[in-house]
Amino acid sequence: MTKHYDVIVAGGGSAGIGAAIGARRTGARTLLIERGPCLGGAATLRNVVTYCGLYTRDEAEQVVFGVAKEMLAGLRALDAVSEPTRFTAVAVVFDPEAVKHVADELCHGAGVDVLLHSHLMAATRSQDRIASVRVADHSGIHDYTADAFVDATGEADLGHHGGADVRYGNDGWVQNGTLGIRFGGIPADVSREAIRAAVAAAKAAGARGLTAASGLVARMPVSGDLITYLADEGYDARSAADLSRAERSARRQAHAYLEVIKAIPGCADAYIVSTGPEIGTRESRHLVGRAQLLEKDVLEPGPLGDAVAVGAWPIEYHPGPGIPSEWKFIGAPGYYGIPLDVLHSRDTPNLFGAGRTVDGDRGAGASLRVMGTAFATGQAAGVAAAVVARDADVDVAAVRRELDRQGAWLPGGGGVAG
Ligand SMILES: Cc1cc2nc3c(=O)[nH]c(=O)nc-3n(C[C@H](O)[C@H](O)[C@H](O)COP(=O)(O)OP(=O)(O)OC[C@H]3O[C@@H](n4cnc5c(N)ncnc54)[C@H](O)[C@@H]3O)c2cc1C
Repeated sequence: MTKHYDVIVAGGGSAGIGAAIGARRTGARTLLIERGPCLGGAATLRNVVTYCGLYTRDEAEQVVFGVAKEMLAGLRALDAVSEPTRFTAVAVVFDPEAVKHVADELCHGAGVDVLLHSHLMAATRSQDRIASVRVADHSGIHDYTADAFVDATGEADLGHHGGADVRYGNDGWVQNGTLGIRFGGIPADVSREAIRAAVAAAKAAGARGLTAASGLVARMPVSGDLITYLADEGYDARSAADLSRAERSARRQAHAYLEVIKAIPGCADAYIVSTGPEIGTRESRHLVGRAQLLEKDVLEPGPLGDAVAVGAWPIEYHPGPGIPSEWKFIGAPGYYGIPLDVLHSRDTPNLFGAGRTVDGDRGAGASLRVMGTAFATGQAAGVAAAVVARDADVDVAAVRRELDRQGAWLPGGGGVAG
Protein backbone atom coordinates (compact mmCIF):
# COMPACT_ATOMS: atom_id res chain seq x y z
CA MET A 1 0.00 0.00 0.00
CA THR A 2 1.31 3.45 -0.87
CA LYS A 3 1.98 5.55 2.23
CA HIS A 4 1.04 9.23 2.18
CA TYR A 5 2.90 12.13 3.85
CA ASP A 6 2.31 15.87 3.95
CA VAL A 7 5.94 16.52 2.99
CA ILE A 8 8.67 14.29 1.57
CA VAL A 9 12.28 15.47 1.73
CA ALA A 10 14.76 13.69 -0.55
CA GLY A 11 18.37 13.70 0.63
CA GLY A 12 19.56 13.70 4.24
CA GLY A 13 22.50 16.14 4.13
CA SER A 14 22.59 19.48 5.94
CA ALA A 15 19.80 20.82 3.70
CA GLY A 16 17.63 17.72 4.10
CA ILE A 17 18.03 17.65 7.88
CA GLY A 18 17.05 21.34 8.05
CA ALA A 19 14.12 20.79 5.67
CA ALA A 20 12.71 17.72 7.41
CA ILE A 21 12.84 19.30 10.87
CA GLY A 22 11.48 22.60 9.53
CA ALA A 23 8.55 20.84 7.85
CA ARG A 24 7.78 18.61 10.84
CA ARG A 25 7.81 21.50 13.28
CA THR A 26 5.36 23.34 11.02
CA GLY A 27 3.00 20.45 11.66
CA ALA A 28 3.60 18.36 8.53
CA ARG A 29 3.86 14.56 8.67
CA THR A 30 7.31 14.32 7.14
CA LEU A 31 9.37 11.58 5.51
CA LEU A 32 13.13 12.01 4.98
CA ILE A 33 14.66 9.69 2.37
CA GLU A 34 18.43 9.10 2.31
CA ARG A 35 20.32 6.61 0.14
CA GLY A 36 23.27 6.34 2.58
CA PRO A 37 23.50 4.59 5.95
CA CYS A 38 23.50 7.85 7.94
CA LEU A 39 22.38 11.46 7.83
CA GLY A 40 24.80 14.37 7.34
CA GLY A 41 25.47 14.24 3.59
CA ALA A 42 28.90 15.60 2.72
CA ALA A 43 29.65 16.01 6.45
CA THR A 44 29.53 12.26 7.04
CA LEU A 45 29.75 10.66 3.60
CA ARG A 46 32.32 12.88 1.86
CA ASN A 47 34.83 13.86 4.56
CA VAL A 48 33.75 17.51 4.39
CA VAL A 49 34.19 18.23 8.10
CA THR A 50 34.04 22.04 8.26
CA TYR A 51 30.71 23.88 8.57
CA CYS A 52 31.05 27.10 6.55
CA GLY A 53 28.51 29.89 6.17
CA LEU A 54 27.39 30.16 9.79
CA TYR A 55 29.55 33.20 10.64
CA THR A 56 30.48 36.46 8.96
CA ARG A 57 34.06 36.71 7.73
CA ASP A 58 35.21 39.93 9.41
CA GLU A 59 33.43 39.90 12.78
CA ALA A 60 32.87 36.13 13.11
CA GLU A 61 29.27 36.99 14.01
CA GLN A 62 26.91 34.01 13.89
CA VAL A 63 24.11 34.74 11.41
CA VAL A 64 22.53 31.31 10.82
CA PHE A 65 20.51 29.78 13.65
CA GLY A 66 17.57 27.37 13.79
CA VAL A 67 18.49 23.75 13.06
CA ALA A 68 22.12 24.74 12.41
CA LYS A 69 22.34 26.16 15.93
CA GLU A 70 20.88 22.93 17.35
CA MET A 71 23.46 20.89 15.43
CA LEU A 72 26.26 23.06 16.85
CA ALA A 73 24.85 22.70 20.37
CA GLY A 74 24.70 18.91 19.97
CA LEU A 75 28.30 18.80 18.73
CA ARG A 76 29.47 21.06 21.56
CA ALA A 77 27.82 18.77 24.12
CA LEU A 78 29.98 15.95 22.73
CA ASP A 79 33.12 18.13 22.64
CA ALA A 80 33.19 17.37 18.93
CA VAL A 81 33.45 20.80 17.31
CA SER A 82 36.13 23.50 17.23
CA GLU A 83 35.60 27.15 18.07
CA PRO A 84 34.91 29.34 15.01
CA THR A 85 38.26 29.40 13.20
CA ARG A 86 39.48 31.75 10.49
CA PHE A 87 40.60 30.02 7.31
CA THR A 88 39.93 32.21 4.26
CA ALA A 89 36.64 32.90 6.07
CA VAL A 90 35.29 31.60 9.38
CA ALA A 91 34.26 27.95 9.86
CA VAL A 92 34.04 25.29 12.56
CA VAL A 93 35.72 21.88 12.27
CA PHE A 94 33.83 18.87 13.65
CA ASP A 95 34.00 15.15 14.18
CA PRO A 96 31.76 13.41 11.60
CA GLU A 97 30.78 10.51 13.88
CA ALA A 98 29.25 13.07 16.22
CA VAL A 99 27.32 14.64 13.32
CA LYS A 100 25.77 11.23 12.52
CA HIS A 101 24.58 10.85 16.12
CA VAL A 102 23.33 14.42 16.58
CA ALA A 103 21.47 14.32 13.25
CA ASP A 104 19.77 11.04 14.25
CA GLU A 105 18.68 12.51 17.55
CA LEU A 106 17.51 15.84 16.12
CA CYS A 107 15.35 14.19 13.44
CA HIS A 108 14.02 11.53 15.80
CA GLY A 109 13.28 14.14 18.48
CA ALA A 110 11.37 16.27 15.98
CA GLY A 111 9.23 13.30 14.93
CA VAL A 112 10.55 12.96 11.37
CA ASP A 113 10.18 9.52 9.75
CA VAL A 114 13.68 8.73 8.44
CA LEU A 115 14.36 6.07 5.81
CA LEU A 116 18.06 5.34 5.34
CA HIS A 117 19.40 2.90 2.71
CA SER A 118 16.66 4.19 0.38
CA HIS A 119 17.55 5.43 -3.08
CA LEU A 120 15.04 7.73 -4.75
CA MET A 121 14.98 6.40 -8.30
CA ALA A 122 11.83 7.87 -9.89
CA ALA A 123 8.98 10.29 -9.32
CA THR A 124 5.56 10.78 -10.90
CA ARG A 125 3.81 13.97 -11.86
CA SER A 126 0.14 14.90 -11.88
CA GLN A 127 -0.42 17.98 -14.02
CA ASP A 128 2.03 20.60 -12.73
CA ARG A 129 2.75 18.90 -9.37
CA ILE A 130 4.95 16.05 -8.20
CA ALA A 131 2.64 13.32 -6.92
CA SER A 132 4.86 10.46 -5.71
CA VAL A 133 8.39 9.21 -5.36
CA ARG A 134 9.70 5.71 -5.99
CA VAL A 135 12.36 4.40 -3.64
CA ALA A 136 14.49 1.25 -3.87
CA ASP A 137 15.82 -0.73 -0.92
CA HIS A 138 16.99 -4.33 -0.62
CA SER A 139 13.42 -5.59 -0.26
CA GLY A 140 12.23 -4.01 -3.48
CA ILE A 141 10.60 -0.85 -4.78
CA HIS A 142 8.25 1.35 -2.73
CA ASP A 143 6.07 4.33 -3.65
CA TYR A 144 5.26 7.25 -1.35
CA THR A 145 2.89 10.12 -2.09
CA ALA A 146 2.94 13.61 -0.55
CA ASP A 147 1.37 17.02 -0.94
CA ALA A 148 4.72 18.83 -1.16
CA PHE A 149 8.37 17.92 -1.70
CA VAL A 150 11.86 19.23 -1.01
CA ASP A 151 14.77 18.26 -3.25
CA ALA A 152 17.85 18.18 -1.02
CA THR A 153 19.68 15.48 -2.98
CA GLY A 154 22.50 17.77 -4.09
CA GLU A 155 22.12 16.38 -7.61
CA ALA A 156 18.45 17.50 -7.92
CA ASP A 157 17.49 13.86 -8.55
CA LEU A 158 13.93 14.50 -7.38
CA GLY A 159 13.41 17.49 -9.68
CA HIS A 160 14.98 15.59 -12.58
CA HIS A 161 12.94 12.40 -12.10
CA GLY A 162 9.79 14.42 -11.37
CA GLY A 163 10.01 16.33 -14.64
CA ALA A 164 10.75 19.73 -13.09
CA ASP A 165 12.95 22.20 -14.90
CA VAL A 166 16.58 21.56 -13.84
CA ARG A 167 19.92 22.81 -15.13
CA TYR A 168 23.31 21.09 -14.92
CA GLY A 169 25.80 23.62 -13.55
CA ASN A 170 25.99 27.13 -14.90
CA ASP A 171 27.04 28.45 -18.31
CA GLY A 172 27.62 24.84 -19.43
CA TRP A 173 30.18 24.21 -16.70
CA VAL A 174 30.35 22.77 -13.15
CA GLN A 175 32.95 23.31 -10.46
CA ASN A 176 35.45 20.50 -9.98
CA GLY A 177 34.96 17.93 -7.25
CA THR A 178 37.50 16.93 -4.61
CA LEU A 179 38.07 13.79 -2.55
CA GLY A 180 38.32 14.67 1.16
CA ILE A 181 41.26 12.73 2.62
CA ARG A 182 41.76 12.27 6.35
CA PHE A 183 45.31 11.56 7.53
CA GLY A 184 46.35 10.17 10.92
CA GLY A 185 49.72 9.68 12.59
CA ILE A 186 50.78 13.31 12.13
CA PRO A 187 52.26 14.70 15.37
CA ALA A 188 50.34 17.60 16.95
CA ASP A 189 53.29 19.98 16.53
CA VAL A 190 53.26 19.62 12.72
CA SER A 191 51.24 22.62 11.59
CA ARG A 192 48.79 22.72 8.72
CA GLU A 193 51.05 25.39 7.18
CA ALA A 194 53.89 22.84 7.17
CA ILE A 195 51.70 20.34 5.32
CA ARG A 196 50.60 22.94 2.78
CA ALA A 197 54.21 24.08 2.26
CA ALA A 198 55.38 20.49 1.73
CA VAL A 199 52.63 19.84 -0.82
CA ALA A 200 53.37 23.10 -2.65
CA ALA A 201 57.11 22.30 -2.71
CA ALA A 202 56.46 18.76 -3.98
CA LYS A 203 54.20 20.08 -6.73
CA ALA A 204 56.74 22.72 -7.72
CA ALA A 205 59.41 20.00 -7.85
CA GLY A 206 57.24 18.03 -10.28
CA ALA A 207 55.97 15.27 -7.95
CA ARG A 208 53.57 13.08 -9.91
CA GLY A 209 49.95 12.37 -9.09
CA LEU A 210 49.04 15.57 -7.17
CA THR A 211 46.48 18.14 -8.33
CA ALA A 212 45.74 20.93 -5.81
CA ALA A 213 48.42 22.60 -3.68
CA SER A 214 46.22 25.22 -1.98
CA GLY A 215 43.10 23.37 -0.75
CA LEU A 216 42.00 23.45 2.87
CA VAL A 217 44.06 21.58 5.48
CA ALA A 218 42.66 21.52 9.04
CA ARG A 219 43.24 19.70 12.32
CA MET A 220 40.13 17.82 13.50
CA PRO A 221 38.70 17.75 17.02
CA VAL A 222 38.49 14.44 18.95
CA SER A 223 40.96 12.48 16.78
CA GLY A 224 43.54 15.18 16.01
CA ASP A 225 43.59 13.84 12.45
CA LEU A 226 44.21 16.18 9.50
CA ILE A 227 41.54 16.75 6.91
CA THR A 228 42.60 17.86 3.44
CA TYR A 229 40.65 18.97 0.36
CA LEU A 230 43.43 18.51 -2.19
CA ALA A 231 42.68 15.62 -4.58
CA ASP A 232 40.70 17.38 -7.32
CA GLU A 233 38.87 15.67 -10.17
CA GLY A 234 36.70 16.83 -13.05
CA TYR A 235 33.71 14.59 -13.90
CA ASP A 236 30.04 14.47 -14.71
CA ALA A 237 28.31 13.87 -11.36
CA ARG A 238 25.30 12.30 -13.12
CA SER A 239 27.32 9.47 -14.66
CA ALA A 240 28.28 6.35 -12.66
CA ALA A 241 30.95 5.54 -15.24
CA ASP A 242 32.57 8.95 -14.92
CA LEU A 243 32.27 8.90 -11.12
CA SER A 244 33.93 5.48 -11.03
CA ARG A 245 36.89 6.78 -13.01
CA ALA A 246 37.13 9.90 -10.79
CA GLU A 247 36.95 7.89 -7.54
CA ARG A 248 39.76 5.58 -8.70
CA SER A 249 41.92 8.47 -9.85
CA ALA A 250 41.32 10.48 -6.65
CA ARG A 251 42.22 7.51 -4.43
CA ARG A 252 45.45 7.18 -6.42
CA GLN A 253 46.09 10.83 -5.61
CA ALA A 254 45.44 10.16 -1.91
CA HIS A 255 48.40 7.77 -1.85
CA ALA A 256 50.58 10.27 -3.71
CA TYR A 257 49.73 12.96 -1.10
CA LEU A 258 50.50 10.46 1.67
CA GLU A 259 54.02 9.99 0.29
CA VAL A 260 54.57 13.77 0.40
CA ILE A 261 53.33 13.96 4.01
CA LYS A 262 55.44 10.99 5.13
CA ALA A 263 58.56 12.82 3.92
CA ILE A 264 57.92 15.70 6.37
CA PRO A 265 60.18 15.35 9.45
CA GLY A 266 58.28 13.50 12.21
CA CYS A 267 55.54 12.25 9.83
CA ALA A 268 57.03 8.93 8.71
CA ASP A 269 54.17 7.06 10.43
CA ALA A 270 51.40 9.06 8.74
CA TYR A 271 48.57 7.00 7.22
CA ILE A 272 45.24 7.43 5.49
CA VAL A 273 42.36 7.19 7.97
CA SER A 274 39.67 7.49 5.33
CA THR A 275 38.88 8.79 1.88
CA GLY A 276 35.37 10.12 1.28
CA PRO A 277 33.92 7.43 1.32
CA GLU A 278 32.49 9.27 -1.66
CA ILE A 279 34.16 11.95 -3.79
CA GLY A 280 32.86 15.42 -2.95
CA THR A 281 30.76 17.04 -5.65
CA ARG A 282 30.55 20.82 -5.39
CA GLU A 283 28.05 21.36 -8.18
CA SER A 284 25.63 19.28 -10.19
CA ARG A 285 22.04 20.03 -11.18
CA HIS A 286 20.20 23.12 -9.92
CA LEU A 287 16.44 23.26 -9.66
CA VAL A 288 15.34 26.17 -11.87
CA GLY A 289 13.65 28.60 -9.49
CA ARG A 290 11.03 31.31 -9.86
CA ALA A 291 14.03 33.62 -9.39
CA GLN A 292 17.78 33.12 -9.48
CA LEU A 293 20.23 34.43 -6.89
CA LEU A 294 22.88 36.44 -8.70
CA GLU A 295 26.54 37.13 -7.94
CA LYS A 296 25.74 40.82 -7.37
CA ASP A 297 23.15 39.88 -4.71
CA VAL A 298 26.00 38.23 -2.81
CA LEU A 299 28.68 40.88 -3.35
CA GLU A 300 26.42 43.92 -2.77
CA PRO A 301 23.80 42.73 -0.29
CA GLY A 302 20.57 44.69 -0.24
CA PRO A 303 18.05 44.85 2.61
CA LEU A 304 16.95 41.41 3.77
CA GLY A 305 13.48 42.26 2.47
CA ASP A 306 11.57 39.04 1.97
CA ALA A 307 14.54 36.77 2.67
CA VAL A 308 13.88 33.36 4.22
CA ALA A 309 17.55 32.37 4.70
CA VAL A 310 20.92 34.04 5.09
CA GLY A 311 24.19 33.28 3.30
CA ALA A 312 27.52 34.32 4.81
CA TRP A 313 30.21 32.35 2.96
CA PRO A 314 32.16 34.22 0.25
CA ILE A 315 32.02 33.16 -3.36
CA GLU A 316 34.47 30.24 -3.55
CA TYR A 317 34.50 28.96 -7.12
CA HIS A 318 36.58 25.91 -8.08
CA PRO A 319 37.22 26.27 -11.81
CA GLY A 320 39.01 22.98 -12.48
CA PRO A 321 41.33 20.31 -11.05
CA GLY A 322 44.52 21.83 -9.63
CA ILE A 323 43.48 25.39 -10.46
CA PRO A 324 43.37 27.60 -7.34
CA SER A 325 39.86 28.54 -6.24
CA GLU A 326 38.55 32.02 -7.08
CA TRP A 327 37.41 34.04 -4.05
CA LYS A 328 35.14 37.09 -3.99
CA PHE A 329 33.98 38.57 -0.69
CA ILE A 330 30.56 39.66 0.52
CA GLY A 331 30.08 43.41 0.99
CA ALA A 332 28.75 45.00 4.21
CA PRO A 333 27.13 43.77 6.42
CA GLY A 334 28.92 40.51 5.56
CA TYR A 335 25.82 38.42 4.82
CA TYR A 336 23.02 38.41 2.26
CA GLY A 337 19.39 37.36 2.12
CA ILE A 338 18.04 34.45 0.05
CA PRO A 339 14.42 34.95 -1.12
CA LEU A 340 11.90 32.13 -1.20
CA ASP A 341 11.48 32.37 -5.00
CA VAL A 342 15.09 31.18 -5.39
CA LEU A 343 14.13 27.93 -3.64
CA HIS A 344 10.72 27.53 -5.30
CA SER A 345 10.56 25.50 -8.52
CA ARG A 346 9.55 27.60 -11.53
CA ASP A 347 7.23 25.00 -13.02
CA THR A 348 6.30 22.73 -10.09
CA PRO A 349 4.45 24.65 -7.33
CA ASN A 350 4.74 21.87 -4.72
CA LEU A 351 8.53 21.48 -5.10
CA PHE A 352 11.34 23.39 -3.33
CA GLY A 353 15.10 23.15 -3.69
CA ALA A 354 17.49 23.29 -0.74
CA GLY A 355 21.27 23.27 -0.33
CA ARG A 356 23.32 22.67 -3.48
CA THR A 357 20.22 22.38 -5.65
CA VAL A 358 19.15 26.00 -5.04
CA ASP A 359 19.11 28.28 -8.07
CA GLY A 360 22.19 30.50 -8.07
CA ASP A 361 24.27 31.75 -10.98
CA ARG A 362 27.97 30.86 -11.29
CA GLY A 363 29.01 33.18 -8.46
CA ALA A 364 26.00 32.98 -6.14
CA GLY A 365 25.89 29.18 -6.44
CA ALA A 366 29.54 29.05 -5.35
CA SER A 367 28.60 30.85 -2.14
CA LEU A 368 25.24 29.41 -1.12
CA ARG A 369 26.32 25.76 -1.64
CA VAL A 370 28.12 25.45 1.72
CA MET A 371 26.65 23.41 4.57
CA GLY A 372 25.88 26.27 6.99
CA THR A 373 23.78 27.94 4.30
CA ALA A 374 22.32 24.55 3.33
CA PHE A 375 20.87 24.17 6.84
CA ALA A 376 19.24 27.60 6.37
CA THR A 377 17.84 27.08 2.86
CA GLY A 378 16.77 23.60 3.98
CA GLN A 379 14.81 24.81 6.98
CA ALA A 380 13.15 27.52 4.86
CA ALA A 381 12.28 25.02 2.11
CA GLY A 382 10.85 22.58 4.65
CA VAL A 383 8.66 25.22 6.25
CA ALA A 384 7.51 26.43 2.82
CA ALA A 385 6.69 22.86 1.72
CA ALA A 386 4.67 22.34 4.90
CA VAL A 387 2.77 25.56 4.21
CA VAL A 388 2.02 24.40 0.65
CA ALA A 389 0.88 21.01 1.96
CA ARG A 390 -1.46 22.76 4.40
CA ASP A 391 -2.71 25.74 2.34
CA ALA A 392 -2.08 24.52 -1.26
CA ASP A 393 -0.20 27.77 -1.84
CA VAL A 394 2.70 29.56 -0.18
CA ASP A 395 2.77 32.96 1.42
CA VAL A 396 6.25 34.38 2.17
CA ALA A 397 5.06 36.17 5.30
CA ALA A 398 3.70 32.91 6.72
CA VAL A 399 7.02 31.15 6.03
CA ARG A 400 8.99 33.96 7.71
CA ARG A 401 6.70 33.95 10.75
CA GLU A 402 7.09 30.20 11.14
CA LEU A 403 10.89 30.38 10.72
CA ASP A 404 10.93 33.04 13.41
CA ARG A 405 8.85 30.82 15.69
CA GLN A 406 11.36 27.99 15.09
CA GLY A 407 14.28 30.21 16.13
CA ALA A 408 15.71 30.56 12.63
CA TRP A 409 15.70 34.32 12.91
CA LEU A 410 17.65 36.61 10.61
CA PRO A 411 20.12 39.12 12.05
CA GLY A 412 19.08 42.72 12.71
CA GLY A 413 15.62 43.70 13.79
CA GLY A 414 15.02 40.77 16.14
CA GLY A 415 13.33 38.34 13.79
CA VAL A 416 12.24 37.67 10.26
CA ALA A 417 8.69 38.62 10.97
CA GLY A 418 9.62 42.08 12.26
C1 LIG B 1 35.72 18.90 -1.35
C2 LIG B 1 34.63 19.77 -0.87
C3 LIG B 1 34.90 20.64 0.15
C4 LIG B 1 33.89 21.42 0.65
N1 LIG B 1 34.17 22.22 1.70
C5 LIG B 1 33.15 22.72 2.41
C6 LIG B 1 33.39 23.26 3.68
O1 LIG B 1 34.54 23.34 4.13
N2 LIG B 1 32.33 23.70 4.38
C7 LIG B 1 31.06 23.65 3.90
O2 LIG B 1 30.14 24.06 4.61
N3 LIG B 1 30.80 23.17 2.67
C8 LIG B 1 31.82 22.68 1.93
N4 LIG B 1 31.58 22.11 0.72
C9 LIG B 1 30.24 22.19 0.13
C10 LIG B 1 29.29 21.25 0.78
O3 LIG B 1 29.86 20.02 1.12
C11 LIG B 1 28.02 20.94 -0.07
O4 LIG B 1 27.72 21.93 -0.96
C12 LIG B 1 26.91 20.73 0.95
O5 LIG B 1 27.16 19.48 1.55
C13 LIG B 1 25.55 20.82 0.37
O6 LIG B 1 24.61 20.29 1.30
P1 LIG B 1 23.38 19.47 0.74
O7 LIG B 1 22.62 19.02 1.92
O8 LIG B 1 22.72 20.28 -0.31
O9 LIG B 1 24.03 18.26 -0.05
P2 LIG B 1 24.82 16.98 0.45
O10 LIG B 1 25.59 17.26 1.69
O11 LIG B 1 25.56 16.51 -0.74
O12 LIG B 1 23.66 15.95 0.82
C14 LIG B 1 22.85 15.36 -0.16
C15 LIG B 1 22.32 14.05 0.40
O13 LIG B 1 21.36 13.50 -0.51
C16 LIG B 1 21.58 12.11 -0.63
N5 LIG B 1 21.08 11.69 -1.94
C17 LIG B 1 21.52 12.08 -3.15
N6 LIG B 1 20.79 11.50 -4.13
C18 LIG B 1 19.87 10.75 -3.51
C19 LIG B 1 18.83 9.90 -4.00
N7 LIG B 1 18.59 9.75 -5.31
N8 LIG B 1 18.05 9.23 -3.09
C20 LIG B 1 18.28 9.38 -1.76
N9 LIG B 1 19.26 10.18 -1.25
C21 LIG B 1 20.03 10.86 -2.13
C22 LIG B 1 23.09 11.96 -0.49
O14 LIG B 1 23.45 10.65 -0.11
C23 LIG B 1 23.40 13.00 0.57
O15 LIG B 1 23.32 12.47 1.88
C24 LIG B 1 32.58 21.36 0.13
C25 LIG B 1 32.31 20.49 -0.92
C26 LIG B 1 33.32 19.71 -1.41
C27 LIG B 1 33.01 18.78 -2.51
